[in-house]
Amino acid sequence: MSELYANNFYEILHVLSKNHKLKNKIIKLIETRPTAGKVIEEESRKKEFIKILQKLIMGEIPDLNTAYHQVQNKIPRNTSKYADNSRVFTRDWAERLVRIQLSRFYNQAVMEILNDSGEEDCFIPHSQYEDHNTLCTTEMAGKKHKVKPLYNKLIDIYENENYNRYAKTIPQHPNCTHVISPII
Ligand SMILES: [Zn+2]
Repeated sequence: MSELYANNFYEILHVLSKNHKLKNKIIKLIETRPTAGKVIEEESRKKEFIKILQKLIMGEIPDLNTAYHQVQNKIPRNTSKYADNSRVFTRDWAERLVRIQLSRFYNQAVMEILNDSGEEDCFIPHSQYEDHNTLCTTEMAGKKHKVKPLYNKLIDIYENENYNRYAKTIPQHPNCTHVISPII
């Protein structure tokens, strides 16, 4: 594959500004696939969040920090039915939401492109920002993987809400900086 792919989470936005096929695939996924999560359970909150995510991906929001602030301002905690629940609304809930959904849609799109082209294998590079004792760092990074099980697990967690902290997919946790990439 000659097109550009990210080696870690922080390269995603730059890569999307160059790889239009991947960017269009992500936009289509965001429009058609479920986005789960208690902080955006209400339809109006979900719609507003999806608008912000799409703008970030299209390059209309300059960086991640601006996206985190827009989430906090446009879908404030006090308009959620879980506003009083500090397990749902952690201090960094807006950042977690943006990061996990950006990563999830990016990795989902990469795996669908691999699958569409008949490629069964992928690679998860080590990330220079990785946490040293997470499952993705100790058991998944630096290795070749089959696309199918990673993809099925991603759907199970991020579309069907069967969260499992030991699940082997990417993103593996809210601050995961790993990404799935084609085998070069
Ligand atoms: Zn990770």
